Parts: sequence; C-alpha cells; structure tokens
Amino acid sequence: MARPCFVANWKMNKTVEESISYIRLFQEQCTTLSIQNCDLILAPPYTALFSIWKIISGFSRPIGLAAQNLYYEADGPYTGEISARMLCEIGCQYVIIGHSERRIHFGETDFSVAAKVHAAISAGLTPILCVGESAKEREDGKTIEVVQRQVKEGFCKIEGDLSHCIVAYEPIWAIGTGKTPTPSELEQVHQKIAQSVRGPRVIYGGSVNEGNVAAFMKEPHVDGMLVGGASLSAETFLNIIQVGIQ
Ligand code: PEP
Repeated sequence: MARPCFVANWKMNKTVEESISYIRLFQEQCTTLSIQNCDLILAPPYTALFSIWKIISGFSRPIGLAAQNLYYEADGPYTGEISARMLCEIGCQYVIIGHSERRIHFGETDFSVAAKVHAAISAGLTPILCVGESAKEREDGKTIEVVQRQVKEGFCKIEGDLSHCIVAYEPIWAIGTGKTPTPSELEQVHQKIAQSVRGPRVIYGGSVNEGNVAAFMKEPHVDGMLVGGASLSAETFLNIIQVGIQ
C-alpha cells in the first residue's frame, strides 16, 4: 500500500463559521491522537477554503486543503467559475475532479474531466479523480469496463507517471446509501485501476464509516478513503482515520 490518504468531502455543507469551529476541534483532537504516516485532506466548500487555510497553515501536523471542483480555463468570461490558479492562491494543494454528483447534476463528461485534470496538474495541484459505476452498470457486470474507461479518459491529457495523482473509486450506488462493495470486490476494482494507469494512489469512497473502514484498509490496493457524510463531524472523521490506519 502507498502512503494512506484520508479525504473529507464536505460537499455543500458548513458556513465559514461552522468550518472554523470544525477545524479548531480537529486540530485539538489531532494533537492528542497518534495519526502520523498518513495524509489528511479536507475539502470544504469554496467559501471556507481561505479561512481554513489561514488556520491550518499554522498547524505543526500538515493538513492538505482540497477544492471540490475547478474550471479548466485559466481566466476569462466564465461567470461563476474558479480556476486552478485561484485555488493555488488560497492554499489548495488538491482538487476533487469528476465527482459523480458533478457528472450527474452538472453535466460533467469524461471530456471536461480530462481538461480539468490537465488544468489542475499544470497549475501544480494534485487531482483527486473520482470514478465509479452506477447501480445499473454494476448489475450489467460493467464495473471494470466503466471504471477503467473513466480513469483512462480522465488522465488522457497527462503523459508519464501519475504517482503524484489520486484516483477515488466511488461507486455511485454506494454514495450516501449505506451500501458498500465487499472488501474483496473493492480490492478487485482497485487492482484493475492500478493495472490501467501507472502510479496514482487509489482510494475508496462510498458510505465509509468507523465500522467498515478497517476491513477496506486491509486490502493491499486500497490506499485510503474519501469520506462524505461521516466526515462532517470532526470526531467521527478522526475516528475513521484512527481505525483505518491500525
Ligand atoms: C462522496 O460523496 O464522496 C462520499 C464518499 O459520500 P458518502 O461518504 O456520504 O457516501
């Protein structure tokens, strides 16, 4: 397994004030728990990124900051969009790209995802590329085909080694539903992802909690977790990390 990585995706939750309370509690508890040898990454909404960065940049324990999206153009008439350079300026080192909620609700395609991955890497951001099959695709036995296509398409503009990148395997049917693949099903998909592109860490997301994280993290090709709902509580997220790295 590569260095484990735990990402908290807050989605469209928490005001700036709520984000600051979270990070203060997170910091306090982080120092009392022994959670070394792993990367911790928080992905708050855009509005809270700068405030959080100002706080975490003073921590002795490094915490990574991720945006939940970006736009692939550098600047220009794209009302409402945020570029990679703007994210770098406010302390982001990572950016989530191609989350299924963006593919489903905001029309993201493999084409826009590839352009975003390219824009992120060109600006020095680490992309967290999300891939995953729908319930129907799983029923039809197409999981591996869909996931391998999304990974290949997502990185199609990038040449060479991808060890600085992260892929998050997030089956759509597992997100926020309480359903998950079995650890061995997960291992099989992660192995196939590892075979199709060279080097990224491959993490899992979808209904991760304190009860299931240990079994997932035991699998050799599972390099970490992307946590949605359960990351909204600092205590629960830290417990997940603690259980996951044991
Ligand atoms: C997510 O949407 O990235 C996610 C993993 O959500 P949840 O943990 O709530 O299933």
